[in-house]
Amino acid sequence: MVLLVLGVGVGARPVEEKKLDPAKPDFSVYHTQHALTEYIAQIVKIHPSTMQIEEMSRTDKDASPDSAAYTSSMQVVTVEPGGLTEDHSNKIRLLLAFGEHGRELITTETSFRLLRLFADPGSAMDIVEAQGASPHRIRSVLHRSVFKIMPMFNMGGRKKVEAGELCERKNGRGVDTNRNWDIHWGFQEKDYDPSEEYPGTAPFSEPETQILKALAEDFKPHVWLNVHSGMEALFMPYDHVATIPTGPAAEATYNILEELNMVSCRGQCAVGSGGESVGYLAHGTATDYMYERLKVPLSFTWEIYGDSTADFHDCFRMFNPLDRSEMEEVADNWALAVFRLLEFLPKHPDIPHLQIGTNPGGRSARVGQHAQPGGGKEVFAKEGGRKRQKVANTNPKRPAEIRVEGEGVVLAGRKVDGKRWEVTTDPLVGNETISLDGRSLRALHPPGTLSLTRWTLLVVVAFLALACYAGKGLRLAGNSRGSPPNLSSRRSSKPPTLSP
Ligand SMILES: [Zn+2]
Repeated sequence: MVLLVLGVGVGARPVEEKKLDPAKPDFSVYHTQHALTEYIAQIVKIHPSTMQIEEMSRTDKDASPDSAAYTSSMQVVTVEPGGLTEDHSNKIRLLLAFGEHGRELITTETSFRLLRLFADPGSAMDIVEAQGASPHRIRSVLHRSVFKIMPMFNMGGRKKVEAGELCERKNGRGVDTNRNWDIHWGFQEKDYDPSEEYPGTAPFSEPETQILKALAEDFKPHVWLNVHSGMEALFMPYDHVATIPTGPAAEATYNILEELNMVSCRGQCAVGSGGESVGYLAHGTATDYMYERLKVPLSFTWEIYGDSTADFHDCFRMFNPLDRSEMEEVADNWALAVFRLLEFLPKHPDIPHLQIGTNPGGRSARVGQHAQPGGGKEVFAKEGGRKRQKVANTNPKRPAEIRVEGEGVVLAGRKVDGKRWEVTTDPLVGNETISLDGRSLRALHPPGTLSLTRWTLLVVVAFLALACYAGKGLRLAGNSRGSPPNLSSRRSSKPPTLSP
């Protein structure tokens, strides 16, 4: 994302400098565009139960008569670690883009490694456990998440870079797609440099941004992550003003980035608003649009590598590690950072929690059981006069065990007494108890963790459940699907007050 600030301070330099010998990419270390595309297709092909790929393509219909039509195509990989499904409405949805700027080759290497980790999540869990993370917690989130990944967003720009234009960040026809979004579009700062950040003839003039916008509108992600290089930073909105949004959700977002900074960036990343931290404001960016217009609650730009000692014209060195060991270290680290991010997501009030025992409509359900032919018991939920829905099965061979299948997740639990089973749904939130005495499911929480919000929710739920039982016909509209309590609100840390 970071711009080259050409010319700034150059006048102070001695005229006679040693001749610059810009670093060039070593394609025995980095993959070529062609090789990466092939490898990604292969990874997906051998994991058909959790991955699928599509080629998305658009052509500019409004290209002027004297210019050739401009087409952009890119791979979009869907990854659903719990198994591919059609309906993503109950899942945590994450949309990730890599390689938006052609010269940032390290980001596309990171996408390749991320897909390899998704192909072998066991190895990812081993590594994060060695880092001190909870693999159980990450696995729990992983299995109820779905990812849409654009491993190489800017195919046209990347082609130019591989042809030798090592400072190229724009797309195949000279537009910076990260200035092409309809949010504060076209605004020019004093140091505006069209060779770096030409925003196009109009918002969404570019096929790349059209593809991504359509994808985001359809997918409705909870998390948008745009991976760049040029510095080390974990950004949230805004890019076009030097401030971050206010409120509990934005505070939770900021806290997640702070935690990620410690576990994935040695505490060295700049954290906060892009507009405040980069040193210049950026207008028409994807992250601002995703957050402000599409209401994506967690919108991020990660800057994963930068060599601040590199000469302004030595672009490959400035944006990418040169040798193999450092390249692999950076790419592996930031691919794993996506898994570390999952660990923190349940703390965010806008991330949906796993709910068991509720019907798809989100209403509260009565719970009962009946014997199965095999000897076990089926636990079911039933809402009013509606169809019974299975929520769990007991194990006929081990009657004290239960398996809960909900929202693409299979969870195990244990018997508490003759009528109740306890199932761990989310280590950060607590356990759910399935009661078989005809009452709704309820959540158990470790002592002392009930926030005021949670108490209020419980009282309201209990009242409504009682009213329902008294036959007053009250419906519990989404009682158990409301926003979870903002756990981070108990924390003392606050986002910094940033100057406008
Ligand atoms: Zn960039």
